[in-house]
Amino acid sequence: MPRPRKWRRVCRMPQNDCFGPLNSASNMDIVMTVDEYEAVRLIDLEGLSQEDCAQRMNVARTTIQGIYSAARKKLADTLVNGRRLIIQGGDYQLCEGDFCNKGCRKK
Ligand SMILES: [Zn+2]
Repeated sequence: MPRPRKWRRVCRMPQNDCFGPLNSASNMDIVMTVDEYEAVRLIDLEGLSQEDCAQRMNVARTTIQGIYSAARKKLADTLVNGRRLIIQGGDYQLCEGDFCNKGCRKK
């Protein structure tokens, strides 16, 4: 039985979508998806557990583990190797109205 495609719920788009070293030119771009960005925002900045993050983004916990570890690896690559980081794309759906039932808009 084919599983329906699951969109990852994202609360809002990043305010900035391009980062990079200021003191040198970067030779390679890293592309982080918007859902990866959201996982970092929720887990590292808001302090959510992976369990809560999974609920908030409406995906399985194992899915979040994959998204989060991919995101962390990209962040590390950016910091350590001086890459340019672009945030774009991914399987996501922005929170709106009824979707936002976990209190994520009360900020
Ligand atoms: Zn939301």
